[in-house]
Amino acid sequence: MPPIDKTTPGEKYDVVFIGGGSGGSAGSRRAALHGAKTAIIEESGKLGGTCVNVGCVPKKIMWHAADIADKLRHAADGYHFKLPQDGPQFTWATFKPQRDAYIRWLNGIYDKNITGEGVAYHAGHAKLTSPTSIEIKREDGTTYSINTDKVVLATGGRPTIPSDNEIPGASLGIDSDGFFALEDQPKRVAVVGAGYIAVELAGVLNTLGSETHLIARHDKVLRTFDPSLQDVLLPWMQHTGINFHGNTKVLKVEGQPGGPLTVHLSTGKTLEVDTLLWAIGRKPNTENLGLEDVGIKVDKTGSVVVDEWQETNVKGVFSIGDVQGKALLTPVAIAAGRRLSNRLYGGEQFKNDKLDYHNIPTVVFSHPPIGTVGLTEPQAREKYGDAVKIYKSSFRALYFSMIPADHKEPSLFKLVVVGPEERVVGVHVIGMGSDELLQGFAVAVKMGATKRDFDDTVAIHPTSAEELVTLR
Ligand code: FAD
Ligand code: NDP
Repeated sequence: MPPIDKTTPGEKYDVVFIGGGSGGSAGSRRAALHGAKTAIIEESGKLGGTCVNVGCVPKKIMWHAADIADKLRHAADGYHFKLPQDGPQFTWATFKPQRDAYIRWLNGIYDKNITGEGVAYHAGHAKLTSPTSIEIKREDGTTYSINTDKVVLATGGRPTIPSDNEIPGASLGIDSDGFFALEDQPKRVAVVGAGYIAVELAGVLNTLGSETHLIARHDKVLRTFDPSLQDVLLPWMQHTGINFHGNTKVLKVEGQPGGPLTVHLSTGKTLEVDTLLWAIGRKPNTENLGLEDVGIKVDKTGSVVVDEWQETNVKGVFSIGDVQGKALLTPVAIAAGRRLSNRLYGGEQFKNDKLDYHNIPTVVFSHPPIGTVGLTEPQAREKYGDAVKIYKSSFRALYFSMIPADHKEPSLFKLVVVGPEERVVGVHVIGMGSDELLQGFAVAVKMGATKRDFDDTVAIHPTSAEELVTLR
């Protein structure tokens, strides 16, 4: 149950956050902590937003399940554990309700935190009627209005699916929200896309044993990432059984909702699958929010345009998180929300608080995982030309010493450094443990560390992370 909602019509607040996801929850709690009279409006009936309900959290749980499947294979193959003759079996149908229960528990934690901090919760769809008044439409169709000095738009985004006009039968497919609703494991899946979500979900499905096709419109995955990471990941994905269809488009989809489906590709091939999953990017939730009426600018993707202080072109209306289109990551939405509330209500010590969007670390939960912070090699060369130097190492983690050659996952660790002082401007890692080791190195990059600082740090042995302080 969400917190008891405060439907007092005409109530006046210092600040109202529209959207109870990562950014809205964190920002509203911080504003209330500083003593501002704060409200949050959420239309879905549950707090936590994309990350908690259909994003980071259930995704990482599925990644762990897939990782265990890999480890069980390693246990039998290289570490002399006896497993059942027919191998370990993963039961999606019983695991999914357990995962859902955990998410419900998390929703409850969000509810408690909002209430505990004194944020007034309004359940319904919010629409600005002026920069200082918001109309809330409840589930039963009734509406009421509240007033406020300031508004923070934190409405996030949603997955994109091509229309049936663009690609006949496209709507027979599902998106990432649909993936988390799957009650059982599809035996054969086609995933369209080549970004974070396509790579992560194709990886999970393949590792858990589904026949997996990945359809990309170019010949690479994760095209915005450092090329060295792309060059390691894609061949390994193919090696582990993912059928990669590069430079390929979906032309038509035929079949029944819920499958089976026939997917017609631009290469002339057809794929018979149970599920088609579109992972071709996300759209900001800026429709039906009253932005046009109030004159708030959006860019050509529909994302809210903000300045470095998260303020829109209309004074007193701010925006944070995915809906403002920059760095669509949970910790970014949280940090932007907290800093904005610090600056608005935290007094003198926070008067210049704002989020710096440079050097944001990020991880792709692929198999193996990727971690990256700072400039890619091409970005650094464009910015600094010949002043760029690269250090890198390719290796197999010690864990794989016991595993047959065919199953030894690759690792590649790379530093991009600049100038005679060799300042580290990029760290790019792929391989076991990359997800966990990056955070500390991101601190170093943020602090302006040089290659010498890395080298002066005594290695921790035996780990993969030590490669980053011993590169030659
Ligand atoms: P959201 O969390 O989307 O919250 C917006 C909220 O606003 C929603 O609850 C919505 O119902 C509500 N809302 C919208 N319009 C209205 C309205 N008019 N009135 C009232 N309420 C409204 N990020 C990571 O950092 N790590 C990951 O591992 C990761 N994995 C991901 C995996 C997937 C499959 C996906 C889809 C995303 C993932 N992300 C990950 C991204 C992360 O989920 C988002 O960056 C984050 O949720 C953005 O937070 P937000 O507050 O901006 O928006
Ligand atoms: P991304 O922006 O990462 O990737 C979108 C992909 O869709 C690109 O590979 C692009 O291809 C492809 N694409 C776009 N249009 C089409 C089309 N018409 N036909 C075929 N392919 C198309 O978006 P995602 O949806 O994967 O993820 C959204 C955001 O959510 C991410 O950017 C990330 O910020 C966040 N996220 C973070 C995660 C994490 O932190 N681990 C995990 C999941 C999501 P091309 O490359 O060829 O242009």
